[in-house]
Amino acid sequence: AKARVIIVGGGTGGAIAARYVKALDPAIDVTIVEANPEYITCYMSNWVLAEMRDLDSLTHGYDNVKARGINVVIDTATRIDTEGQKVLTAGGQSLPYDRLIVAPGIDFQWDAIEGYDEAASQVLPHAWKAGPQTQLLRDQVAAMPENGVVAIVAPPNPFRCPPGPYERAALIANYCTRHKPNAKIVIYDAKDAFSKQGLFQAGWERHYPGMIEWVGGFETAGGVRRVDPAAKTLHTEFDDLEADVINVIPPQTAGRIAVDSGLTDDSGWCPVDYRDLQSTIAQNVHVIGDAMVSSALPKSGYIAASTAKVAALAVVDHINGREPGAPAYFNTCYSLLTPEHSISVSGVYEAGETDDGEQAIVPVGDSVAVSPAGADDRFQGREARYAASWYDNLTDQGFG
Ligand code: FAD
Repeated sequence: AKARVIIVGGGTGGAIAARYVKALDPAIDVTIVEANPEYITCYMSNWVLAEMRDLDSLTHGYDNVKARGINVVIDTATRIDTEGQKVLTAGGQSLPYDRLIVAPGIDFQWDAIEGYDEAASQVLPHAWKAGPQTQLLRDQVAAMPENGVVAIVAPPNPFRCPPGPYERAALIANYCTRHKPNAKIVIYDAKDAFSKQGLFQAGWERHYPGMIEWVGGFETAGGVRRVDPAAKTLHTEFDDLEADVINVIPPQTAGRIAVDSGLTDDSGWCPVDYRDLQSTIAQNVHVIGDAMVSSALPKSGYIAASTAKVAALAVVDHINGREPGAPAYFNTCYSLLTPEHSISVSGVYEAGETDDGEQAIVPVGDSVAVSPAGADDRFQGREARYAASWYDNLTDQGFG
């Protein structure tokens, strides 16, 4: 019989994994189980806030995926039976697998911030899954007064897209310089430091002087303990803040299906063997993208793609009785300061060990680096153009 590979989640990681499994061994029966008929990328959704893109241009369907001979089941996986090796769905299907790739992305820790539950997110958007939430945030910023205040609540590590909240601040500010010149954006951060911090802060000061304020550190004023959606107020231990728009990006876990199926550990993420991304909890199951315990890898779209390829190769090797080779992982992430200025971080990683001998992801040499400080307009303009072509290349791998 044909070997069966099921992929739960047809986002960036899942769609790319499916493509590579099918390309590497066309004899394998490959099925994606995906909740939504279309996928909207989170990457570039901040661009929508600066009127650079609309959501339609970030939306991808599954026709090209199906044309490659990959089965696409639009249904929500409700449980993975790791003993019986089947995926159960809300639509009542029971889909058996020989190997499973789990790629459900993230879910939110509702009520980790008191008062912030799913209902509250309809008033105080997270916009950390792209779609209606992005539109809601965009509409709220457009509707606020000219001197309005936007509060962004940034989450603790680890979370999806480490530079994302800070790019968001820049692109909301970019919109405000055109439409709300006296607006203010305050970031309340649970962390003491953040990704590309020096580059972001220099960019904010240069392009939006005085408009963006960062309040960091859970132990100082940054830790938001409670929100009040009706009064549009944030409460920290020391402070209360009213704002016209409150964007709460809550603490996160692996996608609900991974949690409900027992694939996560105490951290809320799925532990894996970094040599082939097999779950250390369940056999014949691989976990990729944001849902895995990331170790040194950022939770980015590019890493979702890179882990998808590693898992696809490993799955095909295992099915064909071969030992997988030693993988490398690649990341490149661009963040816009303005539509014409971008900064980036990139790196190459491999499976290694911590000082205590625990398996971990480690950077290869000094490959992890950010753009130079003080780069001129030409350099940052070139990075902004690379960002647009990065998007086309990444989405083409899964959906093109
Ligand atoms: P996802 O892309 O979220 O895909 C998960 C899929 O699984 C979804 O389609 C979902 O519907 C489906 N699913 C979940 N549960 C089920 C279920 N039970 N049954 C069926 N289907 C299910 N990354 C970058 O590299 N560069 C950037 O510039 C960048 N910018 C970002 C900006 C923002 C504002 C945000 C929020 C993120 C950004 N990211 C960026 C991060 C990037 O979007 C994620 O890291 C990436 O999408 C992770 O891919 P994934 O496949 O793990 O999860």
